Amino acid sequence: MQTPEPPRSAADAPPEPSRLRLMRQYELVERVRAYDPNVNEDLLNRAYVFSMQAHGAQTRASGDPYFSHPLEVAGILTDMKMDSTTIATALLHDTVEDTLASLEDIQKQFGPSVARLVDGVTKLSRIELQTDQAKQAENFRKLVVAMSEDIRVLLVKLADRLHNMRTLHYLKNPDKRRRIARETLDIYAPLAQRIGIEKMQDELEDMAFGELNPDARNSIVARLNFLRNEGEAVTKKVLQELKSVVGESGIKATVEGREKAPYSIWRKMQRKNVGFEQLSDIMAFRILVDTVDQCYQVLGIIHSHYHVIPGRFKDYISTPKPNQYQSLHTGIMGPEQQRIEIQIRTKEMHEVAKLGVAAHWGYKEGAPRTDGLQYRWLRELLDIVEHAQKPEEFLENTRLELFQDQVFCFSPKGDLIALPRGASPVDFAYAVHSRVGDACVGAKVNGRMVPLRTALRNGDQVEIVTQKSGTPSPAWERFVVTGKAKSCIRRFIRTQQRTEYVLLGKSMLEKLCKQENVDFSEKAFEAISKNFQSATMEDLLANIGASLQPLREVFNAAYPNHRLKPPEKPGDKIIAVRTKVAVKGTAPLTLKGLIPGMAVHYARCCHPLPGDSIVGIVTTGKGVTIHTNDCETLESFARAPERWIDVGWSDEQDKAETMVGRLDVVLINKPNGFGAMTTVIGKNNGNITNMKITNRTPEFFDILVDVEVRDLKHLTIIIAALRASAAINSVDRTKGR
Ligand code: MN
Repeated sequence: MQTPEPPRSAADAPPEPSRLRLMRQYELVERVRAYDPNVNEDLLNRAYVFSMQAHGAQTRASGDPYFSHPLEVAGILTDMKMDSTTIATALLHDTVEDTLASLEDIQKQFGPSVARLVDGVTKLSRIELQTDQAKQAENFRKLVVAMSEDIRVLLVKLADRLHNMRTLHYLKNPDKRRRIARETLDIYAPLAQRIGIEKMQDELEDMAFGELNPDARNSIVARLNFLRNEGEAVTKKVLQELKSVVGESGIKATVEGREKAPYSIWRKMQRKNVGFEQLSDIMAFRILVDTVDQCYQVLGIIHSHYHVIPGRFKDYISTPKPNQYQSLHTGIMGPEQQRIEIQIRTKEMHEVAKLGVAAHWGYKEGAPRTDGLQYRWLRELLDIVEHAQKPEEFLENTRLELFQDQVFCFSPKGDLIALPRGASPVDFAYAVHSRVGDACVGAKVNGRMVPLRTALRNGDQVEIVTQKSGTPSPAWERFVVTGKAKSCIRRFIRTQQRTEYVLLGKSMLEKLCKQENVDFSEKAFEAISKNFQSATMEDLLANIGASLQPLREVFNAAYPNHRLKPPEKPGDKIIAVRTKVAVKGTAPLTLKGLIPGMAVHYARCCHPLPGDSIVGIVTTGKGVTIHTNDCETLESFARAPERWIDVGWSDEQDKAETMVGRLDVVLINKPNGFGAMTTVIGKNNGNITNMKITNRTPEFFDILVDVEVRDLKHLTIIIAALRASAAINSVDRTKGR
């Protein structure tokens, strides 16, 4: 069955009524038989008929019969060469949720393993249509739990999402389309990446990208087309030359070029300080051979024929990525002095890169290991999910974790620990064991003591210094990046805070009793703790301490006949103190780590934004000045460490607040260049507050642009969008000027 190329987004092509031809029963069986001679024909036939009858006359938003959906999902999974049980699950995956069929029916007719898988997928769909964060987080929690029991639940769910994305443009409600696309980008695409299904990840990302940011995608696609046409001759030449260079050695190899996906280019533009101008930004070349030895031989041949670009060589064969990806990567100056990227791998590795977990056990191994817990990252996700207090908390943590690239570090014994990029020694400590993290007091990287907030680099050897009495510091939360470290630190702080609140609550009660000449009796309060929705006396005390529960009400309940004296001072409460800082022209912002009432202003040299790492410098007579961590001005304070104070942004930043970021834009001198720049900024909800031309040549304008944004992330999006525009040569954030 050929699936027609889907329109990329609702904006690209208006929905046309679909003219779908349903795959027949025997066609499905034949597709599975093509890769699995032991296909369970009977199971597939019965699942096909059951699903078709159960869905009956239901239709999709496209007008197609509903049954086309489970059938397409099954089709996607045959492309991944999945076993009959998985294909049957795909056919049945919506029957329990959307038809009169019950799970018992499935169990009776198809047995326990199909029923268990259908149940796993159903549980996820049931809460999928929730809009708020808490519900979405709950959805994700269930997904993690279900897939840790059997990874096939995830494979069916991903195929389900892929087909829903392919037909997303039929949905009329733009909010719903956006929500589904957002969820795809935040959760499903990273999961596809994690289990190594590159093809599915690319397609999911591209479709979601087109829905969420059609302008950015369109400009990248336009630029890609331009660079592809311009570089066509070079690409051919590179392919030919690589073929003949490798061919001379007698090694049988396939050489191919692969264009990068628009979304991965977009992400790179946001992450790194780059635009894309040359062939190496859009193409990677790939050499496929038969054996591991040949991979290294080919690498040697390539390196001896061309100039090697330093720092680009990576050996993922000896150190596979966490999703089992293996390959050699290198960068060279190719023919015509073009930088090119080359990946060298065996055909088997290539299969794994495309299909990930599915390549390892589909139908092939008689009894595949379906338990997802063989994946370390999945075990860690499960741990976070089980221990997080608020669902939003782990959603944020895990989302971050899934997105990032990896650095590989070593313990002193030589154990390999893979961490997300930007990870600190504290993350390393928690990755080793939560006890090591909790007791961490210092770290040595490559034999030298370093600050705990140092970002680790590939190949670093990390030694954690621990102390029995050591405890996690709340300040760590500002620089750790792994979900595990974050959740452990929060768990600790919560326990510690609770202990403090319990003690405080108790002393408040005791004080009041003394004041009222009543003997403090824990029993009297214990008896009434249930009245205040507290499970235990301790809960009640903690609530009093945290001033969630008025003290006098509790006293009255325990001693109903006692008349309380009026409070001595108005407001018998503990007031939480937080520093509000007024910035000229904007609403107050919240900072952590400052004494209440301290005067604060933001440095003009570096324009710090919420999200930046910052430090405060005490300025005599002027209070505290906030700089970004990498501001050049800080050098002049290097000799006065006593003036530095550790500050951070509060998590409770009001969404409506804005700050000003300054950009250094180099605009190509063309008609309507200014128009293009201001349009891009406006479309991304940036408000230009000031603009100055600093230099002008026949080709370029250098312009300083001040843009009002919400936070650093917002500014980063604007920068990336500007870089994607053909009118703009380069964009950088101005710092230290
Ligand atoms: Mn479905």
